[in-house]
Amino acid sequence: MSCSTDLIHHPYQPPTDFEAPQVGVFKASTVIFPNVAAMRTREWMDKSAYTYGLHGTPTTFTLEERLATLEGGTHCILTPSGLAAIAHVDFALLNTGDEVLIPDNAYAPNKSLAEGELARFGITHQVYDPLDVSDLAARITARTRLVWLEAAGSVTMEFPDLVALVQLCKARGVLCALDNTWGAGLAFNAFDLTPGQGDAPLGVDLTIHALTKYPSGGGDVLMGSIVTRSDELARRLKLSHMRLGTGVGANDAEAVLRALPSLPLRYRAQDLAARSLASWCASQPAFSQVLHPALNGSPGHTHWQQLCITPQAPEGLAAGIFSVVMDERFSAAQVDAFCDALHLFKIGYSWGGPMSLVMPYHMASSRVRSSSHLQQGRVVRFCIGLEDVTDLQNDVLRALTAAHLQN
Ligand SMILES: *Cc1c(COP(=O)(O)O)cnc(C)c1O
Repeated sequence: MSCSTDLIHHPYQPPTDFEAPQVGVFKASTVIFPNVAAMRTREWMDKSAYTYGLHGTPTTFTLEERLATLEGGTHCILTPSGLAAIAHVDFALLNTGDEVLIPDNAYAPNKSLAEGELARFGITHQVYDPLDVSDLAARITARTRLVWLEAAGSVTMEFPDLVALVQLCKARGVLCALDNTWGAGLAFNAFDLTPGQGDAPLGVDLTIHALTKYPSGGGDVLMGSIVTRSDELARRLKLSHMRLGTGVGANDAEAVLRALPSLPLRYRAQDLAARSLASWCASQPAFSQVLHPALNGSPGHTHWQQLCITPQAPEGLAAGIFSVVMDERFSAAQVDAFCDALHLFKIGYSWGGPMSLVMPYHMASSRVRSSSHLQQGRVVRFCIGLEDVTDLQNDVLRALTAAHLQN
């Protein structure tokens, strides 16, 4: 055999009993079958065999199984981003004529997706008030196929009465999907929200998770997941996944696998730092309101307590992210100057990484329903990284002074 052929069809086979702490990076589009019969009979949907890179490799199967366990489900599908997971659920489960209901404080691209893409397929949407269960009840019709949930909500961090919202969806026979990025599978179990002893088990039908945030933990990977306990939903989602072709790269999957073992430690550390900084912010006159569900008086605080305080976590668990409402006397330019004056907090989207981030928001332009629970004024979101919290507090204090917002 010539060298060029030998370099491809080399006879050497490494021993098979290799074991190491981390899962290997298996990269493949093509998967080789031992014979035609195997090619014809192999099944990827139940993870019993490999057929094509898009349908799964040892690396992606392993990550999927670990994420399903993390969130309390039994099936997991990986997508190239958190937003792709939301889009995948919509496209797999909604038909022309169906309606999807989205909370007003949802991750904003969820609404844009409905407005810009679902509408083109004759799928309508409505926005409901996540703090008013009766508002959702009034909006569910015979056309409602799917209800999105988010706890806590994006930017304004309201924690809804998730148990009541899920109970309502179940009673009306409507599928409910939770964007579980904030809870990350740690703060509460979305598939077991059992409200009290003796009550029937209660859980969402499926979750999506922006692995981009805490599971990646590095600010350097985009990935999403869909998790469910339903065999039937998993089958539909997997078939759509195969047809739509939205797989993930092996190096990215390995990066998330590598970061998963430290997820609970990072989540807890960022929670503690965020709560400490949020409590301090509550004492600063420049901020008229601090939005963090674990803080007394924050919108939905009692619902957060009900779900996220457990015997294992008596202080409760929360993501390391919160927002402040700036005093309404500050102009947009003053709020921007405050963000610019921060040194450790960098201006950027996303969260869950090592570096703290800040972002100003103009809520009036992105919300449909009235927000009487929010003070007037511009909203600034802080995402807490892994820096020392005293340094972060000093950074905020220095920026308030530099932007002349102090007194
Ligand atoms: C970031 C985020 C997403 C989207 O994740 P990407 O990977 O950035 O697409 C979805 N939902 C929530 C709540 C998020 O914070």
